Amino acid sequence: MTSIGAVTRQIAALEISTKQNTSSRTTTTTTTTTTTATHQKKPSQSGANVSKLLSKFAAPNPFPGKPASTATAIPTKPRPASPTKIAAAPPPPPPPAKQPHVIDIGRYDGGLEIDNESRGEQVSGEAAEDLALDSSVARYRPTQEWHLTDFDIGRPLGKGKFGRVYMVRTKCEPHYILAMKTLYKSEIVQSKVEKQIRREIEIQQNLRHPHVLRLYGYFHDEKRIFLMLEFAGKGELYKQLTKHGCFTEKRSSRYVDQMADALSYLHSKHVIHRDIKPENLLLGINGELKIGDFGWSVHAPGNRRKTLCGTLDYLPPEMVEGKEHSEKVDYWALGVLTYEFICGAPPFEDLSGYNATYKRIARVDLKIPPKVSPEARDLITKLLQYDPEKRIALSEVRKHPWIIKYRSKSGSTS
Ligand code: ATP
Ligand code: MG
Repeated sequence: MTSIGAVTRQIAALEISTKQNTSSRTTTTTTTTTTTATHQKKPSQSGANVSKLLSKFAAPNPFPGKPASTATAIPTKPRPASPTKIAAAPPPPPPPAKQPHVIDIGRYDGGLEIDNESRGEQVSGEAAEDLALDSSVARYRPTQEWHLTDFDIGRPLGKGKFGRVYMVRTKCEPHYILAMKTLYKSEIVQSKVEKQIRREIEIQQNLRHPHVLRLYGYFHDEKRIFLMLEFAGKGELYKQLTKHGCFTEKRSSRYVDQMADALSYLHSKHVIHRDIKPENLLLGINGELKIGDFGWSVHAPGNRRKTLCGTLDYLPPEMVEGKEHSEKVDYWALGVLTYEFICGAPPFEDLSGYNATYKRIARVDLKIPPKVSPEARDLITKLLQYDPEKRIALSEVRKHPWIIKYRSKSGSTS
């Protein structure tokens, strides 16, 4: 049985690039069930399969035998057939018993068309140029040319600031599963973040790490940008944290290990994330952590930035005090995250207001509750150091007794 994780990982081989003709690949697909969500999942279990995923995440396909989205046409402009696409019409569907099983992507709600009528206008000028984003013509790693009509659209996954996110499947074999994020260009322009969005997309597309959400490609039409993202089967980590209040030390330790791994990778690429917080973390099909949202990231080859950004509770003293900062801001945020995982709230939160939180951060007014183990306490204290240079290195975090203690024997962090 092929897991969604395996299918989505194979997409790297598909490359979505100009090099490969995808139609020649064969797919191993998986039996799907249309059972509704009664199934409890354990996020850190490995080997989760598609049936498990679907029992929680996929709505029953109301059109058996057809991709869910075929019931609702997606209005996009017609285009000439591309040589990299399957040109031939699909064969008639075989009888139900022999029908190949395709991963169920759930029921499409028509939200793309609804949105497209009610929101967004065409943009012009420099902004239009900034937002004419297409990975098939990217300078580095150009991909195959993609259009909305290349996908079956499934269930909605969430709503972002600039548009909706859907579970989708490529129409061409081997029917990869992805998350498609839409962004309305005019709303990006209204928020004056066209350069930031462009940077976010360019940064994310060049990253390859098991704990960094992969961006496989992107394309645009008159009003929208579409991001082809790795599907994070278990959704938002923040939701899990809210549901449980806090995590066990074992679970927290494994997430922190994965975060330290991902951050080391990002820093090796001179990418400082600067907005680490539970809301920006997603969970893969096996419960593994994925860093998403690169909105505040900067490429910082050797220089130090002064821009004040990031979320209040996760800001380090040097940013609160308006000083220059480096990749060590992410070390601090990892300390805050560790604390929040175990205790259920960030360490410097002060409900009386922003100023009070700022003051607590600047004083490193850290109070660790007695329930926290001495090892976890030690790591949190070593990360939450006022002086960025005194913060424990990420390589040392990964060797810390609190991390080693809970790492699985296989060495897997998920
Ligand atoms: P916000 O400011 O609310 O975070 P945003 O523009 O950053 O919005 P996202 O957080 O990326 O948007 O997406 C909105 C929601 O869609 C997420 O909270 C998540 O539930 C879902 N989602 C986004 N990307 C994925 C993905 N790759 N896999 C699964 N679900 C996703
Ligand atoms: Mg987000």
